[in-house]
Amino acid sequence: MRTSTFLRLKLREAAFISKALLSSNHVVLAHIIPMRRCNLACGYCNEYDHTSKPVPLEVMKRRIDKLADLGTSVVTISGGEPMMHPQLDEIIRHIRSHGIIAGLISNGYYFTPDRIKRLNEAGLEYLQISIDNVEPDEVSRKSLRVLDKKLRYLAAHADFHININSVIGGGIKNPEDALTVATRAVELGFSTTVGVIHDEDGLLKPLGEKEKQIFHQVKKLGNKDHARLNWFQDSIAEGQPYEWRCRSGSRYLYICEDGLVHWCSQQRGYPGTPLEDYTMEDFHREYKTEKWCAPTCTIQCVHQVGILDNWRDPQMTPAQIRKEQKKKEKERVGEVLRAE
Ligand code: SF4
Ligand code: SF4
Repeated sequence: MRTSTFLRLKLREAAFISKALLSSNHVVLAHIIPMRRCNLACGYCNEYDHTSKPVPLEVMKRRIDKLADLGTSVVTISGGEPMMHPQLDEIIRHIRSHGIIAGLISNGYYFTPDRIKRLNEAGLEYLQISIDNVEPDEVSRKSLRVLDKKLRYLAAHADFHININSVIGGGIKNPEDALTVATRAVELGFSTTVGVIHDEDGLLKPLGEKEKQIFHQVKKLGNKDHARLNWFQDSIAEGQPYEWRCRSGSRYLYICEDGLVHWCSQQRGYPGTPLEDYTMEDFHREYKTEKWCAPTCTIQCVHQVGILDNWRDPQMTPAQIRKEQKKKEKERVGEVLRAE
């Protein structure tokens, strides 16, 4: 990444963080899915199929326009595998045309020097690739041995920020792989983060001693800004729940391929409202709603967005919110009757 592009991105990041601290009335980060299809089939994943068609460009543009209306600062394109979308570059250009920061999450398989140069031209600013192991196995082929050539292409040609995420916990066979992946990422000039995952049953279990040791080593190697924002991982690594305020459905949105707003990839169906009908009333309701899944949540980006508002505006359970809405409705009816 050129120094001038790096400095411009840092300035843009500083601006969106200041805007988010000054006002809680806009979306900070949205993940948008232009296609559910993926070329891989990771054993733990519930976010892909092998048949769906790309969402048409015009539909994607309308969704991005709506996100711009909601004041969104960052849009990250995710999947499935978004690099399979034939008009990905146009989607990125459209995000940038609104002055929004454009990011991409990919499994890395489709990067060639020419493809990377076209992403530079489209204005991509941020790419994340998750690498699960060193050698491919029956669970995951997002493997360093398979992807190393792609990482070298990226190091040579990309003019956007690249973060490599490794994972630990959840029965990952060789915890040392996370350290090998992170070391290689740093060697190539990328930033690196580590995700702590639940065990196969989705239960919160402390990491073993060896896993913990590696987790702390990888964190030290990694992106200092992210490490500072990922305090919750220390609790999760110890098998402890973490208290925080998840602002999904509000400051963070997950837009599926059907254009519905969900809390996040793992809580699809809540609230499940079409983006085109999403109002600031929905935004404020979700901002105030306490999420039952928050104490054991491991989704890094939503935690990071949550930090911006953790110090203000306590949340309520859905039952408390309904009670408050009824009270307001009664007050409104009372006012109307008194006026008459
Ligand atoms: S590459 Fe990503 S989207 Fe595709 S199956 Fe694996 S985890 Fe799921
Ligand atoms: S707490 Fe985590 S899992 Fe629950 S809605 Fe928020 S981001 Fe999703």
